[in-house]
Amino acid sequence: MTVVNPIKNSNTTIQFYAGLKTIGGTIFEVKYKEERFIADFGMIFQNKEGVQLRPQTTISELQAIGVIPSISGVLKNDEIDRNATIAISHLHLDHMGLLQYVHPNVPIIMGEESKALYEHLHTIEEEPHVNVAQQVKSVPFHQPIQVSEHIQVEFFPVNHDALGASAMRIITPDSTIVYSGDVRLHESDIDTANLPKVAGSPDILIIETTNVQEEFLDVNPVISSEKDVLTPALLKIDTPIIFNVYHRNINRLEILIEAAKQKDKLIVFEPETAYLVQAFQMGAPHVRFLQVEQSRIIDSIDTIQPITLAELDRNFSKVWLQSSYHNIRLLQELPVQGATYVHSNGVPLGSFDPVYNELLEWIHKVSMEYVVLGVSGHAAAAQIKWLADAMQAKVTIPLHGFTPELLQGPYKTFLPETGTIYPVSELIEEK
Ligand SMILES: [Zn+2]
Ligand SMILES: [Zn+2]
Repeated sequence: MTVVNPIKNSNTTIQFYAGLKTIGGTIFEVKYKEERFIADFGMIFQNKEGVQLRPQTTISELQAIGVIPSISGVLKNDEIDRNATIAISHLHLDHMGLLQYVHPNVPIIMGEESKALYEHLHTIEEEPHVNVAQQVKSVPFHQPIQVSEHIQVEFFPVNHDALGASAMRIITPDSTIVYSGDVRLHESDIDTANLPKVAGSPDILIIETTNVQEEFLDVNPVISSEKDVLTPALLKIDTPIIFNVYHRNINRLEILIEAAKQKDKLIVFEPETAYLVQAFQMGAPHVRFLQVEQSRIIDSIDTIQPITLAELDRNFSKVWLQSSYHNIRLLQELPVQGATYVHSNGVPLGSFDPVYNELLEWIHKVSMEYVVLGVSGHAAAAQIKWLADAMQAKVTIPLHGFTPELLQGPYKTFLPETGTIYPVSELIEEK
């Protein structure tokens, strides 16, 4: 009796629409017969500096300048393909920033924590376009879900600097494809480290390579956890602190709240952020939200106490205050001279953003100290190599990096072209 390898006559294909040699903008599609599983729907960053284009008016215009790839059946300006589903690994814009252009009848799936965060971001109008409650279905981790007649997906937790970050395993009748999403792998990141155990040996592994760059190849892969890096550094600062944060990293909010408590400070958030603090049950007696007239979300905050600008002024030496860049003018009304501005991965992220210099000028103008306290959300090059190695895929496809070709190991790697449709059977064929 001969056992026929089911992959020989594979009906499964893979196509990459964007995000192969860039940090993010990832969109790829696994297709089995007519059934389409689209993984991630990221905003393409146009250049190495990561500068994002300004919003334009129409989808066609955005397609003409390459911000939205040419993908049929799922966009608002197109006739909808009932066989398509979009799955999102995590809520960073480079993985879901184009969802706002998706037709409201195309089903979107994501992990449970991601969906919860997405709904809260919708409430605070940071993600106003998608009706999350109606269009998005959440998927529990470690449970295979039937997406269409022949395609199954299973989500796995991974560690990354976005709440709910997931890897996924896509199973068709003849192929198994694992997609890492974005991953970090410091000592306590057991979810990422477990991926080979729970999702190892696929036909295809699609893996991010953000830090797989020439200059980082020999960097010591020991990266400390956010808490180990940030808490001691925060506790050393004796002046009042002004800080920025990124909403999708809920863990960072928790670290700040805990450190403020240890330092016996009041921590004051903008109303939108305070709403998230409340939603994720991180409120505490030393947490306040800044009572500003123009915020509609204030009516929805009931477990966190407000503080007025006048009270803040009087108690300023005891305060850690969040200040998003769009609210920076408020600092002129407070005695911030001599305070420390802690840049904690909020916007503007870095010098590639023109606004970043304006921020530094502001800080200089009001005589604050400037400290950068951030932690990368991405595994080091050596850790990505370890992960790819341990996954033991028949074929490894590196992407989401400037030099994915530098990922080499005792496995076959393949660098796809944008737009080409690859039958899985051809990819894994011995050459
Ligand atoms: Zn990414
Ligand atoms: Zn990410």
